[in-house]
Amino acid sequence: MIVAMQELATEEQIDAIIQEMVEAGVNVHRTTGASQTILAGVGPTQALDLTAFEQMPGVMYVHRISSPYKLAGRGFRPEGTIIEFENGVKIGGNEVVVMAGPCSIENEAQIQETARRVKASGGKFLRGGAFKPRSSPYAFQGLGIPGLKLMFEAAREHGLLCVSEVMEISQIEPMLPYVDLFQVGARNMQNYNLLRELGKARKPILLKRGIAGTIEELLLSSEYILAGGNYDVILCERGIRTYETATRNTMDISAIPVIHKLSHLPIVGDPSHGTGRRDMVGAMALASVAAGADAIIVEVHPNADKAASDAAQTLYLEQFDTLMGQIRLVAKAIGRTA
Ligand code: PEP
Ligand code: MN
Repeated sequence: MIVAMQELATEEQIDAIIQEMVEAGVNVHRTTGASQTILAGVGPTQALDLTAFEQMPGVMYVHRISSPYKLAGRGFRPEGTIIEFENGVKIGGNEVVVMAGPCSIENEAQIQETARRVKASGGKFLRGGAFKPRSSPYAFQGLGIPGLKLMFEAAREHGLLCVSEVMEISQIEPMLPYVDLFQVGARNMQNYNLLRELGKARKPILLKRGIAGTIEELLLSSEYILAGGNYDVILCERGIRTYETATRNTMDISAIPVIHKLSHLPIVGDPSHGTGRRDMVGAMALASVAAGADAIIVEVHPNADKAASDAAQTLYLEQFDTLMGQIRLVAKAIGRTA
């Protein structure tokens, strides 16, 4: 921690701060400049309430310099995390993995046709929501476990893996046999009870950034899962809410390199929720790959205009096929495969 004293701070005020830090077991290094004193504290500062220091007389500001998350931090695994799935697909390695499917699983024909085309275009994961967090309680809420079974069967028939959203603790157990990757949606990024339970699950987790979540909050949320012993966490940038209204959310592409610097966890770009518009999904998917995303998740549907949810951002299957070719080219340009 760094404590910067005010220019007019007295020796007594400086001593009081030093004493407080020393009592907490912190080693204090004092630097006195021409007009200001800086105290650098090294040691067990994790549990200290820095705002209490900030309110002590003579203090200008206090900064934490060590990260508040330990297991999610890059230092925990400097080489990066690679998550391997049962069919050998890896996320976090050199290959950019593509996940695609409808926002919601609607019926067998829809999910079968989607699986066939996602596989043919080179996707590795079939996505689809069975439990849907809809803004309106009157909107389609998803087919639940029967829908998830339809997706799982379609995925396996076509050699794909499955990712689907879990909204609450009671859904974890029944979903387990039918997913390879649990998705925690933006609305649940800070549902700490759910995250703690998923820390005990022995399945990888795709943790999406909340609409008002900072990168630090996203990493702290991932820490809940990691602290439970589940180290297979993948983060997802899916757009945040800003003052801009031209797109559904503002896709924060810079979060991708920032997270790669701060954390060892792989990161996925979701340009569908990031833009809300199918004519912009491709550009932001390619931008995500160029920025270093380890995977891309996009919404596709055999009859995209009539999708039960998120139709406006859902790609036509032909559009997805074209995008896959472009993703391969961008991946190649940066020394990766797709
Ligand atoms: C989804 O993936 O369909 C979804 C609801 O995503 P998000 O939680 O990012 O809104
Ligand atoms: Mn959706």
